[in-house]
Amino acid sequence: MFIDTHVHLNNDEIFKHLDEVLEDAYHVGVKKMIIVGYDLPTSTLAVELANQLEGCYAAVGFHPTEIKEYTYKEYQQLEELAKKPKVVAIGEVGYDFHWNITTKEEQKDAFVKQIELAKKLKLPLIIHSRDAQQITFDTLKENKAQEVGGIMHSYSGSVEMAKEYIKLNFSFGISGPITFKNGKNMKDVVREIDSKYLVSETDSPYLTPHPYRGSENGPKYLPLIVQEMANIKGISVDVMAKNILNNVKRIFGDKYE
Ligand SMILES: [Zn+2]
Repeated sequence: MFIDTHVHLNNDEIFKHLDEVLEDAYHVGVKKMIIVGYDLPTSTLAVELANQLEGCYAAVGFHPTEIKEYTYKEYQQLEELAKKPKVVAIGEVGYDFHWNITTKEEQKDAFVKQIELAKKLKLPLIIHSRDAQQITFDTLKENKAQEVGGIMHSYSGSVEMAKEYIKLNFSFGISGPITFKNGKNMKDVVREIDSKYLVSETDSPYLTPHPYRGSENGPKYLPLIVQEMANIKGISVDVMAKNILNNVKRIFGDKYE
């Protein structure tokens, strides 16, 4: 059995044909998924879907490009959502300096608030970090995120940085780029980092793996990612999938059955 630790079933494009997406995923053995929110509506929908769907869990949080309008009220609503039984993490949260939508200060403020929320509710974090490796690490460290740890989503940083993140109690989400010719960093991380810190994710509908790049990504492609991880580690796909399942249970704890 495979687990997709980062999937946006709450994204409009996927939601339009959700039954088909789920059927295709179940068909190839992807039976557990963590549906990740990125703003208030998608976090709300992630929780609703997790409540309805067997094997699905939710993460709730405000992505760094989506925070502009959010005030105390929205953060209160996020906290209420985060207390729901099938919510296993706060995310995706972090920094994104690729898009010029929010300032560094705005992003830091939102990120720190959500790290505090994760610690208050004892939930791990799912971190989004784009063009922001060092500041992401520094903010997590300064705010003692190691108390809860979590996952560096779609991690494409260096092996050296990965070792530092492990000290902060973080593991790594391995996604479609592992199958890309130019996915060197991610391949290096899988090769050099102990299997117990690696989990699998698709980030659907984004980051479609080879050879399906250019079409919509879905959890049905997760086995391609796990297969590539297994090839690099020189183990069978079954053993790799079992390792990942154990890692997910360790990271997400009691709430994740
Ligand atoms: Zn995502």
